[in-house]
Amino acid sequence: MCAFGPQTVQPTSQPTHPVAQGSSPADGGGGLTSLDQLETPVDRTSPVDLVTDAQEDQTVAQRRLHRPHERTRCRVLAAFAESGDPTLQRRAFKMSECCRWPAVSLSPQGQVHTSLGRCRDRLCPLCQTVRSNEFGARLRDATMTWDSVRHIVLTLAAQDAPLADQLDHLQASFRRLRQQTLWKRRVIRGVYSIEVTLNHKTGQWHPHLHVLIEGSYIPQDSLSEAWKIASGGSRVVWIELMASREGAARYVSKYVTKPSEIGGWPADAICEYAHAITGRRMIDRFGRRPSTPVDIERENETPAECTLRVPVHRLLERINEGNRAIIAAAETLARASRLIRLAIADDLGGPIADWTIRPKPPSQDELIAAYHALAAEFEDDAPFATRTHEPGPAPPPPLTGRQRPMFEGGWAMRDG
Ligand SMILES: [Zn+2]
Repeated sequence: MCAFGPQTVQPTSQPTHPVAQGSSPADGGGGLTSLDQLETPVDRTSPVDLVTDAQEDQTVAQRRLHRPHERTRCRVLAAFAESGDPTLQRRAFKMSECCRWPAVSLSPQGQVHTSLGRCRDRLCPLCQTVRSNEFGARLRDATMTWDSVRHIVLTLAAQDAPLADQLDHLQASFRRLRQQTLWKRRVIRGVYSIEVTLNHKTGQWHPHLHVLIEGSYIPQDSLSEAWKIASGGSRVVWIELMASREGAARYVSKYVTKPSEIGGWPADAICEYAHAITGRRMIDRFGRRPSTPVDIERENETPAECTLRVPVHRLLERINEGNRAIIAAAETLARASRLIRLAIADDLGGPIADWTIRPKPPSQDELIAAYHALAAEFEDDAPFATRTHEPGPAPPPPLTGRQRPMFEGGWAMRDG
């Protein structure tokens, strides 16, 4: 449960989904949020209140899906909501709605797909994780065709300039580097991602580039000299030959986003970062077109063949009613998808709820059986077609002290 900053008090109103219903909840009289003005009546339509209400009113699935990144998510939401910037406040509300009504889709052939209703905000930790893993998987496929993979890190000298200016400079410097003869002769193609760190002592930003290249040996001294010319003075570079292509791709995809570090930043730094990366490609490819395209921006949509779609809260209702056929099907789905597992495993109980154990993936026959069990139970269920803002089960009590290391141990998280 997120309290949205130290001064925020939980509102006393009981809205269901304030913005979804297009109305503002009436103030119960006691809620005093950090942006309330004592001299003026409380405005329950303010973005902060709407976000706070939405956050307090999370669905079961929403709480569980965001639980591994809850602290970072709350920090970003609070920073956006209290920024006074209408654009960031709108983003905060959208983020607070992320994964409100997830659903699972199946095909008669046993394909499983999750549609989470993600917010896709670049600072939403869950959406970042999904995006990073999707990209990492595609990058791994692409780099498998490369002859040799080298990892390069290019840094800028520390400076006080705003982040946006430093990112402009970093990207322009990298373009200049790629124009140099040394680079053109030795690098065939590559992919880069920009990582941003913040020095808490100095308050200085440290943006730097992680680059994976296919090409031949480049002496570090030569690269350093070339980077000094390109960047106008910075010469700190790192280059290494990667022992494994999969490891190399995984390493760079890890730097697409840094949710844990954002969570430790001050609110104004989070907002500056959000503005600085807006409209900016933080990851891109360059050089000769890869034989296997790295489709960076592809959206993960439900495949057309997944004809059966069951909202997760309907699944939870049947599980809690003790419906054995649905419980068996749900266990199969929980083994098929980490995100489904995260959303429903608590209710299933037993070994499947122990997130530290990686479950055995289900066979196709088991998935087909799950499809038929769900189809028999739900095919006449009208709520199928409507997924958003549909009243669901009441949220469970706060899950304090139950954080578990869901995303540790190298599991892929590729659901949409
Ligand atoms: Zn999201």
